[in-house]
Amino acid sequence: MERIILLCMVSICLSAVQAQKFLFNQKWGPAGYKEWRGVNEETAMDKIIKTNELKATQIIDGTTTLREGDIAVSSGRPPRICFARSCLWSKSVDGHVYIAYNLSPEYNEMDTMLIKTGMANIEQGTCVRFVPRTHQRDYIDIQPKSGCWSYLGARGGRQTVSLQIPNCVQVGVVSHEFMHTLGFVHEQSRLDRDNYVTIMWPNISRDRLRNFEKFRTDTLDLPYDYGSILHFGKYAYSQRGEPTVLPKDNSNIQLGQTSSLSHIDRLKINRLYNCDDMDD
Ligand SMILES: [Zn+2]
Repeated sequence: MERIILLCMVSICLSAVQAQKFLFNQKWGPAGYKEWRGVNEETAMDKIIKTNELKATQIIDGTTTLREGDIAVSSGRPPRICFARSCLWSKSVDGHVYIAYNLSPEYNEMDTMLIKTGMANIEQGTCVRFVPRTHQRDYIDIQPKSGCWSYLGARGGRQTVSLQIPNCVQVGVVSHEFMHTLGFVHEQSRLDRDNYVTIMWPNISRDRLRNFEKFRTDTLDLPYDYGSILHFGKYAYSQRGEPTVLPKDNSNIQLGQTSSLSHIDRLKINRLYNCDDMDD
């Protein structure tokens, strides 16, 4: 009998040790968090998910919720449909699309440099130009709030882009959020995505399934872009570290982008804003 009690105690103790290992394992993280090893690098969206999931309760308040993980939707206003060309920033007579911005004084010199590099990333080869706000009515107000997020397209007046310090102040993340500001949703939300990727529904965290909905977006007659800075990574919102998005045919194709826009991302911007493709 004593032996049995002793054995039970040992097994309880062992399971407690196991539980502790799990709870304090550095590899453990919130939904969507994936520790990367080997050649795969974290995509811009992986970094966003990591930050926003940790901050989820602070980001989602009574008036603003996040769609697809980082697209702000304000419940105070009727949701603006941005699927066609209804939420574009206006185009100047000189052919450029100027986006006026205000940068919070909370950003230090290094943060400012990284955010401006993100802007330059969008400007390169496109007709978009970011200009410090002087008098413009419509502008983005870049603030280090909780998480990385942006509204979709131009809403009219002041609109916040949140780039939390330091997690969101990375060139890829900044560029990704500005793509939303320009009016683009995530690449794998395209209506025709099932021809190109397989969504592994059982591997997605139960409460994050909605982030994988499809939307009636304008594909602008451009091919599906696995390497878009707006593409989810393979492990986005994974429940147990299993892949959630797999390219059809060839699972070795890299999904998403770390820091730069893809060539098609630039074409996308120029098509949506009716600009000629620029080579610089
Ligand atoms: Zn996003």
